[in-house]
Amino acid sequence: MEELLRCRDLGLDCDFEACGETPEETLQTAIEHARAIHGLKDVSEKDRQRARQAIQDSFCVPKGGYNPGEGALW
Ligand SMILES: [Zn+2]
Repeated sequence: MEELLRCRDLGLDCDFEACGETPEETLQTAIEHARAIHGLKDVSEKDRQRARQAIQDSFCVPKGGYNPGEGALW
């Protein structure tokens, strides 16, 4: 089982899905994406907790050969 976090579940109109083997890894990927794509500057502890709650146990299905180890999909 892997950990999946969808941008959409955070209320963003975006198809990005962060995936990792641990919630922490998934969160980190999502934060990097949010910084790069959504212009997020600071991530408060509240934001982290909200994102953490949106993480779900799932299997990450690679689309187009996406390798979670690379930590980026956009
Ligand atoms: Zn996004």
